[in-house]
Amino acid sequence: MNTGNIGKVAVITGASKGIGHAAALLFAGNGYKIVVNYCKSHEKALELHSTLTQKGFEAIMYQADVSERAQVENMIHQCLCCFGRIDVLVNNAGIAQQKLFQDISECDWDNMLNVNVKGMFNCCQAVIPHMIKEKRGKIINISSIWGMIGASCEVHYSTAKAAVIGFTKALAKELGPSNINVNCIAPGVIDTDMLCSLYEDEKAYLKDMTPLSRLGKAIDVASLCLFLASEQADFITGQVISPNGGFVI
Ligand code: NAP
Repeated sequence: MNTGNIGKVAVITGASKGIGHAAALLFAGNGYKIVVNYCKSHEKALELHSTLTQKGFEAIMYQADVSERAQVENMIHQCLCCFGRIDVLVNNAGIAQQKLFQDISECDWDNMLNVNVKGMFNCCQAVIPHMIKEKRGKIINISSIWGMIGASCEVHYSTAKAAVIGFTKALAKELGPSNINVNCIAPGVIDTDMLCSLYEDEKAYLKDMTPLSRLGKAIDVASLCLFLASEQADFITGQVISPNGGFVI
């Protein structure tokens, strides 16, 4: 464990499953107090919270739809009431959907942008005043390789994830003078519930396309989050890093 992290607080959105779940376990094991944010998966969040507290880690769970501003503000208020500080924000909560462009409804579009982009906007605006006051903080936004290269039948998802990249680069410039690092992780194909709509042969194809011959694991992304949150990454900001097993992009 990096003892320099002891007492630090990480807010991880979408921590009930997948990458966020792995990040919560990893950050807690490395000394952070955790806010386990979730939206729909109450049982899974509860299970994670129990696991963390049984191991002696400090954590709170908080149900908030990141696209709802008031809910996000209440979550950050609760975090400050319980822990008194916020050191790291991991904007991980996200949704995906596969549809032909012509079949994407206005509601699909709004939902995609609201969760993946407005959610990040809401969370950043809620934590930044506290980070600026402390003159330090780390913000890690989860994009996707599809935000870099575009995915067929995922125009709205690719749009949202490309926005995460532009947002990260611009905010990093604005917050650099306040000693706040803003970086972006653009994972390749990671084996989580987000892939549940894919057929096995589609997954096999994606694996074949990956030079390291496997799909990514949630921990592959969580480990990079932990690094970007650490002091070892103090001079890294405004970057997009893609853990993708060499998937050609
Ligand atoms: P996942 O297993 O489906 O988990 C998604 C998480 O986001 C869940 O914890 C979910 O919480 C949460 N979430 C969804 N909508 C939310 C909302 N409105 N408010 C708060 N939380 C919300 O997916 P994952 O693969 O771990 O994805 C995590 C992030 O990585 C996403 O941003 C995704 O776009 C990105 N990513 C994934 C891959 C991949 O191949 N898996 C690749 C590149 C990027 P509830 O279940 O509680 O609602």
